Amino acid sequence: MPRPSISKKIIVSLAFLVLYLLPVFLKPFTGHARYAPLDMARAVREQYGPAAVLVETGNHLYAWKAKVQGRILPLDLRGAVMRQYGRGWIVGAVGVHKYDWRAIPWSSLGQAVLPVMLVSSDHFGQIQGVRRGAGRFSSVLKRVHTWYGRRAGKNFRLLEPLVLPVKGNAAYWKGLCRASLDNARRFDFIYKAIAEYRANLPLPQGRIKVVITLFTGNSPEMWMGAASQGDFAVIPPYAASLAVPASGRLTKDQKGVCYAVGHELGHTFGLGHSCSAPTPNPNCQKSIMENTQPPEAILTPHEVDFLKKSVFFK
Ligand SMILES: [Zn+2]
Repeated sequence: MPRPSISKKIIVSLAFLVLYLLPVFLKPFTGHARYAPLDMARAVREQYGPAAVLVETGNHLYAWKAKVQGRILPLDLRGAVMRQYGRGWIVGAVGVHKYDWRAIPWSSLGQAVLPVMLVSSDHFGQIQGVRRGAGRFSSVLKRVHTWYGRRAGKNFRLLEPLVLPVKGNAAYWKGLCRASLDNARRFDFIYKAIAEYRANLPLPQGRIKVVITLFTGNSPEMWMGAASQGDFAVIPPYAASLAVPASGRLTKDQKGVCYAVGHELGHTFGLGHSCSAPTPNPNCQKSIMENTQPPEAILTPHEVDFLKKSVFFK
């Protein structure tokens, strides 16, 4: 192949520069930071020197490797994000395909809701299945988001779901969900899910509210164990198995999963149970913070006031 001319090289370099600076330019227009792409070839050169070559060993998230003097070596993507974007950025993924890596502007995300879909160890390799699961989780979150906007008159900012492969197979995680029906083990599932988040991603520190679910293959029957703790709302695997329409009627299962997400998220925003308020509203039973499910569920006037004052609702 002929060597590319200098002008061709400049054009290619400029194209890459525009591609990688695009999220930075977009920021002032969209009002919030976005996830950005990672330059894998640059990551290889910066980690192993100019002679190292980028190789792909498949289509999976972990397919990117460096070839250095005939040896295949792993890539440090955390370091790569630091070098390419600077401090305050972290590495994350939106799926398990090799093109699903993202640089995330963690310190400039502002107040937002971050969905995280854990993936059980036996489903790491299922690129399409994981994509479908994340899409279903998104559909649930979007419906809950629309519902909050309508009921509160303001809304929180919803980020794109991150996907996080974790230890433990589907049978193990489903066992934890089922065990939550036993009072003594009510929170085992959520504690384990939060521990996996904490081992892999930065602490939310009150600035981010995290909605976690888990992909264990198609598991619409896994509804048990939803709960919240601090900045975390943890929803069992049915949230990654049920597709919910953006508007219109909901089935019994769809209502159930929207209720679980909306209710636990409400706790992370600081809402308690409506009928346990010192002077409960006569309609407290109709609130999502009591027993009524979306789309019919309401927020009491007190709850609306509370959310409107929250820094998460803009
Ligand atoms: Zn509750």
